[in-house]
Formats: sequence, structure tokens, C-alpha cells
Amino acid sequence: MPDWTHELPPLPVHPNRVLLFIAMEGEAAPLAGRLGLNVRGTPGSAANSIDLVVPGLDPTVGADRIGPAYAAWALTRAIMARRPDIVVNIGTAGGFASQGLGIADLVLARDTMFHDARVALPGFAAIARAHTRLSPSDTELDRLASDLGARVGLASSGSSLDVTTDELAHFARTRTLAKDMELAALAAVCNAERIPLVALKGVTDLVDHHEPAAEAFVRNLKRTCERLAEATVPLLRALRAS
Ligand code: SAH
Repeated sequence: MPDWTHELPPLPVHPNRVLLFIAMEGEAAPLAGRLGLNVRGTPGSAANSIDLVVPGLDPTVGADRIGPAYAAWALTRAIMARRPDIVVNIGTAGGFASQGLGIADLVLARDTMFHDARVALPGFAAIARAHTRLSPSDTELDRLASDLGARVGLASSGSSLDVTTDELAHFARTRTLAKDMELAALAAVCNAERIPLVALKGVTDLVDHHEPAAEAFVRNLKRTCERLAEATVPLLRALRAS
């Protein structure tokens, strides 16, 4: 009984233009190295028909433009400049130990939503939650997941790195596997533009663990990004061969 509101178009056959969206420059660096992409000078540095889109650093704050607003901004801008056949999101996330996940484990997103959107109005609630099924079919998800050694499930987004007790109850009820700050925004843009979307998340911190997410994130960022980079190469190969 699917409970999402939106479904993205299916995976394209032999996509030519792949748009790779990564939220932070530090996440993009190991991957860019492997794929021969340029992290700076984004959005839209193209190599081998892969456009790498990173929202970049805010000049006032000097930090990466993380979160849903800048994700939607950077993706929309990149799509308008050069429409891709598929969007691939690679990024870090909080994982759930109660679902059997550990640091540097991978999650292939089946669906995504804004878990912190609360709007008690019919219709608008569904718009704000933006619960969206990503492009790979169940069979494609299973095949990709076994190739990459990833789990398949709900990767949920919000504007916060930390978590409230209400959100923890929601995550347990919905069996959420991963929690990030961009995927649901990318899905909303892809839904509005009818562009296929695939997402692979790497766990930097455990949401249902007593250690604050920020500390675990900083400690595990490098290791998790290496693991993500390692998995992205076969993921892109599989997507292009499908
Ligand atoms: N404190 C970090 C900032 C990272 S913010 C620093 O010093 O660099 C978190 C980023 O990683 C977001 O882009 C988000 O998508 C992802 N992320 C990792 N763990 C997360 C979690 N537990 N909850 C939400 N987002 C998380």
C-alpha cells in the first residue's frame, strides 16, 4: 500500500546527461577526484556528460549552503541551464541503529518526504510533506542495492540536523532508514519538472544514539564519503547501462 503522493518518472534507458547533486564541497571532493569532475566553479561543471552541481559556500557565512532551500535553488538553476536525463543525489545522512544501520553504511532511497512539515489543511499537508517515490522500480532498487551493498528504504528530509522526540516516534513508525536535509527538496523539483531521480545516502551519524549528530558527523565524514565515492562509480555505470 504505497503511501506517497508523487511518483517520479521511471529510470531512463541509456541516459546521456547525468546531473550529480552533492550538498557539501567536502562530500563532493573524494567523488570528484574519482570521476574527474571539478568541484569549484559549480553549478554545472561538466565532464563525461556528468554535470556536478554543488550549491557552494555562502560568501557571508563562509559555510556550505546545506538544506532544502539551497538544494532546490541550485538544482532548478542547473536544470534550466541544461536539462538532464536523470538527477543522482549522493550525500551523507543520519542513519537509524534500530533499523540495523551503522556508520558508513549505504541507503538507496525508495521514497522521501519532509518529516518536519506539519500543515493541518487538506491538500496543503500533502504538498508540504512532498512524499515522493523515487525512480527505480522495486526490482531495480533490489538489484542496485545488492550490487552496492546498500539497504533500500525511506530517506527523509528536514531543516534540522538534530531530532525531536516526536520525530523519533515518526521515524520508528515509518521505518525511516536515513535522515538528511536535501533529498525531499530535490524530489519536489524533479517532480515538478518530471525528471527521474535516484539517491544514495551514506551514514555519518546515528540518529537514535546519544552522541550529538554534529560530533559524529565531523568524525565520520571522511570515511563515509570515501565509501560513497567507491559506490557511486558502479551506481553510475549501472544507471547508464540500464
Ligand atoms: N556540522 C557539519 C555540517 C553538516 S550538516 C559541518 O561541520 O560541516 C549536515 C549535512 O549532512 C546536510 O547536508 C545533511 O544532508 C547531511 N546530514 C548528515 N547527517 C544528518 C542528520 N543526522 N540529519 C540531517 N542531515 C544530516
